[in-house]
Amino acid sequence: IFSNLFNKTTPQAQLVNLLPPNWQPLNFDEGAFRLKGTGELTRALLVLRLCAWPPLVTHGLALQAWSQRLLGSRISGALLRASIYGQFVAGETAEEVRRCVQQLQTLGLRPLLAVPTEEEPDSAAKTGEAWYEGNLRAMLRCVDLSRDLLETPGPARNNLMQLKMTALTSTRLCKELTSWVRRPGASLELSPERLAEAMDSGRNLQVSCLNAEQNGHLQAALSRLHRVAQHARAQHVRLLVDAEYTSLNPALSLLVAALATRWNSPREGGPWVWNTYQAYLKDTHERLGRDAEAAHRAGLAFGVKLVRGAYLVKERAVARLQGTEDPTRPDYEATNRSYSRCLELMLNQVSRHGPTCHLMVASHNEESVRLATKRMWELGIPPDGPVCFGQLLGMCDHVSLALGQAGYAVYKSIPYGSLEEVIPYLIRRAQENRSVLQGVRREQELLTQELRRRLLGGGRRVRH
Ligand SMILES: Cc1cc2nc3c(=O)[nH]c(=O)nc-3n(C[C@H](O)[C@H](O)[C@H](O)COP(=O)(O)OP(=O)(O)OC[C@H]3O[C@@H](n4cnc5c(N)ncnc54)[C@H](O)[C@@H]3O)c2cc1C
Repeated sequence: IFSNLFNKTTPQAQLVNLLPPNWQPLNFDEGAFRLKGTGELTRALLVLRLCAWPPLVTHGLALQAWSQRLLGSRISGALLRASIYGQFVAGETAEEVRRCVQQLQTLGLRPLLAVPTEEEPDSAAKTGEAWYEGNLRAMLRCVDLSRDLLETPGPARNNLMQLKMTALTSTRLCKELTSWVRRPGASLELSPERLAEAMDSGRNLQVSCLNAEQNGHLQAALSRLHRVAQHARAQHVRLLVDAEYTSLNPALSLLVAALATRWNSPREGGPWVWNTYQAYLKDTHERLGRDAEAAHRAGLAFGVKLVRGAYLVKERAVARLQGTEDPTRPDYEATNRSYSRCLELMLNQVSRHGPTCHLMVASHNEESVRLATKRMWELGIPPDGPVCFGQLLGMCDHVSLALGQAGYAVYKSIPYGSLEEVIPYLIRRAQENRSVLQGVRREQELLTQELRRRLLGGGRRVRH
């Protein structure tokens, strides 16, 4: 599809040629779960019910430690593997990840691998240069695995993976850079072009606002980022950089912009490094419009993962503590309106600029997904072109399956790794996404409905 797209004349003609004849609204109820095994459905229902129980999420880490002491690590590990870990994580070894991805592929879904890493600012072991170098090796292995996983390897296929910048750069440095990026006059010393030049040449970059240790760490971080991007480009894997806290995001965006100047030139074949935009922030719509226009003016391809945002509670707590303005939208409805406006902006960009502009609609929200598919059809954007969808592994499978069956490109964000590495990450994510986990009632209803149908009506799984 992508090689076809690049061969046609105008961006719009490129897209219209691949359109289905008419648009059908997606039906999320219509038996999406019939493709899944009864065991998987039962586990999903049980785990989602457990995760919607606030004490379990609040005291998750303490409960895990307690169960390990009481039951021993073997039994407690087995329980976790059969429940939360089994539901949200692909596994530990490349073979386990491969099996999970093969199963997703039979359902029409694609992998978006994510290496779960959590920096602990107070731990010397998890902030030293050796820790970031270890993460670099994990990222490079993740690129290889992402490349190997899709059935048809090669540049025509879109292999994607998530990249967490703070796995390769310390949050302390990101906070420092953020404070400088926000000041007027910092733009020349900390320009994306200057950072890109340092990445490419490997020459030592001296930034006057940083001390010697910080400059050393910046150089090492730039070199790690360069190695991941270079390897990902060589293996045809696109990097989707995660957005984190507002205290870090300006620095992360600066680093993404530096990578973009090197790797997002259209002759490289579309954007290889994408940024993530969080619709719950007050300034996101304006920033997204500005960045899209700037990329276009600079002759660069532009890739966006659009999310609502995962750090609401902490953002508000920090603003309260510091007595600063809350950077987030005042309520859920305002975030929804912002998401729809950002979606409209990006779909118009895709329709205007064709395959040099890519978008992942990363949401479990049925209304947002429905709106995206409707506007794609109205704007002449094909289902399996520069716009794709993303949901988390083990969450809202009814949305992913409905999209996949209708021919859209759907990715499941897949964390993988050992129990010890992944459980703290999962529990922290669950704490940040409390409202989402409590809101998956509809998924629970659909799971119950399908299980009841199988038990009472004698209905069975539909095999692919
Ligand atoms: C593939 C993928 C990648 C992701 N990557 C990132 C990432 O890089 N960075 C990141 O931050 N998140 C990321 N997320 C998580 C994402 O931001 C959301 O937390 C999650 O997807 C829930 O939003 P939703 O659109 O799916 O659903 P919904 O359940 O409809 O929305 C829930 C979201 O609405 C917002 N919200 C809820 N209550 C309020 C309120 N009172 N006021 C204002 N806003 C409110 C919050 O953002 C909340 O997460 C990713 C998600 C996916 C699927």
